[in-house]
Amino acid sequence: MLFTTEWLTTLFANYRGAAAEQNSLFEVATDSRKKTECSLFVPLSGENFDGHDYVEQAINNGAAAVLWQEGRKLPDSVPAGFPVFFVNDTLLALQELAAAYRQEVNPAVVGVTGSNGKTTTKDMIASVAGSSFRTHFTKGNLNNQIGLPLTILSMPRGTEVLVVEMGMNHKGEIETLANIARPDYGVITNIGESHLAYLGSREGIADAKLEMTKGMPEDGHLIIDGDEPLLRQVSRRERVITCGFDSMNDIVIKNVNLTKKHTEFQLDTDDELYTIPLLGSHHALNAAFAVTVAGLLKIAKRDVRQALQSLEWTSMRFELLEGKNGSSLINDAYNASPTSMKAAINVVKQMEGFKRKVLVLGDMFELGENAEALHRSAVENVDQSIDAVLTIGEHATAMAAAVSDQIDTIDSRHFTSKEALLHAIETYTAEDTLILFKASRGMQFESLIDHIMNSP
Ligand code: ATP
Ligand code: MG
Repeated sequence: MLFTTEWLTTLFANYRGAAAEQNSLFEVATDSRKKTECSLFVPLSGENFDGHDYVEQAINNGAAAVLWQEGRKLPDSVPAGFPVFFVNDTLLALQELAAAYRQEVNPAVVGVTGSNGKTTTKDMIASVAGSSFRTHFTKGNLNNQIGLPLTILSMPRGTEVLVVEMGMNHKGEIETLANIARPDYGVITNIGESHLAYLGSREGIADAKLEMTKGMPEDGHLIIDGDEPLLRQVSRRERVITCGFDSMNDIVIKNVNLTKKHTEFQLDTDDELYTIPLLGSHHALNAAFAVTVAGLLKIAKRDVRQALQSLEWTSMRFELLEGKNGSSLINDAYNASPTSMKAAINVVKQMEGFKRKVLVLGDMFELGENAEALHRSAVENVDQSIDAVLTIGEHATAMAAAVSDQIDTIDSRHFTSKEALLHAIETYTAEDTLILFKASRGMQFESLIDHIMNSP
């Protein structure tokens, strides 16, 4: 059980029906179509639908109480004794409820934000914490103003550690999320260029991420990418732990080594050799955050090492696949930003055992006015170890052009049709060839990969 309707009356004083009785609620639901048992239905209004229109369906599917926007007419089909809580705004009420439930269960809370690497870091921390504590965490990417409250409201009583991903597009959103989750440990993975369109500058992005601290207690710990000057500014405060590759960090990552399927690394703070089933030194940083949080939670090093080693692979995030004619494909089609694009290219450069390396790159979305310059700079680390750069998309043409300007020996070409691009990729499929696919989610690069994997 999450809570009773009686407990809800302490939060929402304006109610009717049998609300003040001890009706147990087991779930909070926002989708009226979902079968639930004894749930609290929270009708949210979106662009296309309004949950209030589906209250009858929600009750038929198991709702035992509902929140309701004050002033709206309640349909006659809602039985007279049915518990209804009247609120000004159902989304704000959902957030308020999550905040209250978080205080009630009172686990140690870890909040993870940053431009890139949130989900990866969150999953790493959850896996490490799960080795020693009853741990609840954000499923997938449910990191927004609705997803975070719902994550909290699906946490069983007795949860000892809660790990939440916090995403944002606009200023103020992380503050809202931090005030709901109240993180004891705040992790900021990095500052990139995502959402520049809304936040204006990298400084603006850093400030927005640092809103995390507004919801943290005074004795909380902030754990940051110490190689990022914009984040290091805050590092003079107490209880800030910096992680990174630079030797001035509190926790320094060293001896990074990439094998075909793993990244190995060490930290200057212990004698362990850590191995993670993800490729790239940026993932060593994400893992260093997890090791740091684990240290604060006093989890044994051995358990930390084992949990990291046995991480589950998440699909479309730098997934190594076998392609046509024995080629190796990297599916990184889940998303892309200039920072993660550079990181991915670096990993490809570092990967050993291939004779030929090809980058298939597409548009990165939401970059605002500087989109073209950011596309150009995302490929500035391409060097002679890369054989071909094949691009598609509105802005991606700037990447092919930038590569041609830098190095004239690379086969750098832009395509306007998917068929022509596929044809060019196919000419490269061979054993000992590594092909990276990376673009924003909306470019649907998984369909290209499907083709290169499954066509005869
Ligand atoms: P979203 O905003 O979609 O929730 P996210 O912040 O959760 O993204 P992930 O899904 O973990 O990020 O990773 C997305 C991409 O960022 C991957 O392609 C990965 O290679 C890259 N990436 C992961 N960690 C880092 C990092 N620390 N620095 C730079 N790039 C990273
Ligand atoms: Mg994510």
